[in-house]
Amino acid sequence: MTNEQIWQTVLGELELTISKVNFTTWFKNTSIASKENNLVIVNVPHGFAKEWLENKYNKFVLKALKNVYPEVEEIKYIIGKVAAKQYLKPETIQKEQLESYSTAMPEKEKNKNNLNPRYTFNSFIIGSSNELAHATCSAITKKIGTVYNPLFIYGGVGLGKTHLLQATGNEILRMNPEKKVKYTTSERFTNELIQAIKNHRISSFKNAYRKVDVLIIDDIQFLTGKEKTQEEFFHTFNTLHEANKQIILSSDRLPKAIPSLEERLISRFEGGMIADVGYPDIETRIAILKTKLKEKDFYLSDDILKYIATHIQKNIRELEGALNRLIAHCQFNHSNPNLKITEEVLGDIFSNSSKKSVTPRQIIKAVAEFYDIPVEKLKDKSRKKEIVKPRQISMYLMRKEIKSSYPDIGSHLGSRDHTTAIHAFEKIQEEIENDKNIEQEINLIKERLFAC
Ligand code: ADP
Ligand code: MG
Repeated sequence: MTNEQIWQTVLGELELTISKVNFTTWFKNTSIASKENNLVIVNVPHGFAKEWLENKYNKFVLKALKNVYPEVEEIKYIIGKVAAKQYLKPETIQKEQLESYSTAMPEKEKNKNNLNPRYTFNSFIIGSSNELAHATCSAITKKIGTVYNPLFIYGGVGLGKTHLLQATGNEILRMNPEKKVKYTTSERFTNELIQAIKNHRISSFKNAYRKVDVLIIDDIQFLTGKEKTQEEFFHTFNTLHEANKQIILSSDRLPKAIPSLEERLISRFEGGMIADVGYPDIETRIAILKTKLKEKDFYLSDDILKYIATHIQKNIRELEGALNRLIAHCQFNHSNPNLKITEEVLGDIFSNSSKKSVTPRQIIKAVAEFYDIPVEKLKDKSRKKEIVKPRQISMYLMRKEIKSSYPDIGSHLGSRDHTTAIHAFEKIQEEIENDKNIEQEINLIKERLFAC
């Protein structure tokens, strides 16, 4: 076997054991540089990949490598010159143009970065659910515009995307006060554009966005369906990107899962770095509660924290909400918090949220909204892939979440036969096991359905 063949086999095996995002992030542009007796040298594109492969993935790589090259005992990762070249972008003329814009900028606009100083890296707890997203954000603060551009962070509601994005902006400014950082949401971007068109101020709108060093746009999923905004965003994106200006985006899902997002935008987003934030594990949840307590200068015993962290698993904002509610109650009643009081104060919200009942119609509506298609389409005869999948997901959720009978499910979705419903349920169940993205999409729909 050649080195190339060996490495392809190793990659093939690794792809099955680690998530897709991690796989592409860390193993893209890697290769075997040489192998000699029990030492194999692997080429990686940059220092960041070297660090992660050494510290986090080495044992997986070693195991996979041993299957095809049993002599191996040790792997060394070195930064390969050829691959590294791809990461260096030439400076362009546009950069100078951008700089001339920025010197002409009015003073008042300079501070309009929209950053909230509350969000910092210091107050962000790192756990396995967010370590990749955190690490990439933190790397960006040290190498603005050159390591991960654009950076695309995605994940469900209340899992720390805004916190991370803002912390990145704040940290960049702390270390480089001269840099121009702009944070906005896709909704605000859209509204400003509409206002600018209305008031004939389109060129100042363009300048405001195109002169920055770092552009952060939160919740990009709301660009969906807004053609004019997407068009303008595309040009802003290109201008900044070509000039090696840093772009950081967030969304609740992967680019290609954002309905009616233009292909060219999807491919721009996918051309950079994609990192997810997932549900925090119990240790992370407790650690987050502890930091929030410290910020509020309040004390709660460990059993209380554990009680809260056990009941709220999928949303850090709700975790904080429960904590605030308990603190407010204790301060108002001048009582010392104990587990019994906690159960009294929070017990009802926990049981309500877990028991919230939804109807088949609500499920169908939530799925249709998520995929941005009309409800009727789910019920009609269309066999198009972009309709069939959401239809099957509706069926799956009706069975899984509210235990509807298969004939009932069929009748809710355009008088379909119960065997169609069974097939849909089994198919989606199987897909969830094999495709992390489907699982993520379904979780997002469930979050919307069951949110209090
Ligand atoms: P998202 O933008 O993903 O919906 P946010 O960034 O608004 O979520 O986070 C919701 C709340 O949870 C914020 O108050 C944020 O400070 C807090 N939070 C989220 N993740 C963390 C974390 N890892 N450490 C500390 N606080 C966090
Ligand atoms: Mg947010």
